[in-house]
Amino acid sequence: METITFFTGFNRRNFISRTARGIFAATLAPEIVRFAASAEPMGSPAPTPTSAAQGEPLPQDQRVGFALVGLGRLTQGQLLPAFRVSKRAKLTGLVSGDPAKAQKLAQENGVSTESIYDYKNFDRIRDNQDVQVVYVVLPNSMHADFTERSARAGKHVLCEKPMEVSLMKCQQMIDACRKAKVKLMIAYRIQYEPMNRAMQRMVREKAFGPVKYIESDNGQRVEKMEWRLSKALSGSGAVGDVGIYCINTIRFLLGEEPMEVFARTFRPPSDPRFKEVDATIIWQMRFASGALANCMCSFDTYDTKSYRAVAERGTFGMNPSFPYHGLKMFAKPEQPPPPQIAESDQFANELDHMADCVINGRQPYTPGEEGLQDQRIIEAIFESARTTRAVTLPRFDKLDPFRGPIPE
Ligand code: NAD
Repeated sequence: METITFFTGFNRRNFISRTARGIFAATLAPEIVRFAASAEPMGSPAPTPTSAAQGEPLPQDQRVGFALVGLGRLTQGQLLPAFRVSKRAKLTGLVSGDPAKAQKLAQENGVSTESIYDYKNFDRIRDNQDVQVVYVVLPNSMHADFTERSARAGKHVLCEKPMEVSLMKCQQMIDACRKAKVKLMIAYRIQYEPMNRAMQRMVREKAFGPVKYIESDNGQRVEKMEWRLSKALSGSGAVGDVGIYCINTIRFLLGEEPMEVFARTFRPPSDPRFKEVDATIIWQMRFASGALANCMCSFDTYDTKSYRAVAERGTFGMNPSFPYHGLKMFAKPEQPPPPQIAESDQFANELDHMADCVINGRQPYTPGEEGLQDQRIIEAIFESARTTRAVTLPRFDKLDPFRGPIPE
């Protein structure tokens, strides 16, 4: 990736305080900054998004081997391609209830037949030295079972969001990984995505003064009956599936945990899709610094995925903020135009972070405790909607109480 060292000749701290004009640039890691003037010439094809991880790609024999459990839409559409652009991870195993699908995907992705498992014989993965990490990509209520079995097999675990369907199951996953001395990371891709990380620095460095208010939404339409609409399999419907992006990203931006939640839910009475889960949920969160948040998520709206922070002297955010491609940052006042950050493969970013943690013995930035805290907030949202009262949450005075060291 092209590298431009923007800060050469500048004292970074003075530059930030001098004026809001350079706010975007001043808060971006130099290695990911590309200025409008240095963008690709008009008409040239957009570069394929790759991993934003630092350094050169590792040779295959030094990479960390991952097995994917669950070969559904996320795996086939995003994760298999992500291994091709990752710098530190390689695909070495597949786990599926459908042998023909597993065989086909193994052939296409260079996985040996001996490294294909089904849900029953999965525990044999213990003997597979090529697999160091198991990536759990199953319906939510199956995450704990496969995390615990992976830990017992001595494998590190990368688990999709939401972590599980109850606090008890989240805690069991943390305990199992701790007992087996393996790492547990929850796949919060936004926290590894460079534009969102630039936004986090703007909040933390008070680029426009302290943030007073954040609004965020994540809505889409779920047209057909599927496990996301099942209470037993999804746990929390739209809140855990898409609303979790609003919850988790606001926590990531501020570094604070909400002290109080107030929520309302809506379920159209005659729509068969919403017999077990809600269609649309709105909620507010209050933070110790005084920051307030307003959020909406839905399985029944046009695609909307954004956030906007309002600070003392400006407003900034991303629209869209949560899709796989086409993320856009904005800020007002905005003079001169903001720099561009190259789009990266969000799944390769998180694979590479997990691989880095394994290679260098680091704690993941988004460990199990981060997922458990989201589950605590999800449960407070439902309790508030049920009781029509604000729900108080445990108070954490330290910033980032659940996150590991900042990824390199
Ligand atoms: P999907 O329905 O496309 O795939 C689920 C897979 O699990 C399928 O291969 C299916 O055969 C298998 N499965 C096993 N038992 C099942 C059962 N009882 N019911 C249904 N399927 C069963 O789902 P997906 O969209 O790939 O989501 C999988 C996980 O990934 C979920 O936890 C979801 O929240 C998460 N996810 C994350 C992102 C992200 O951006 N990080 C995006 C999509 C999904």
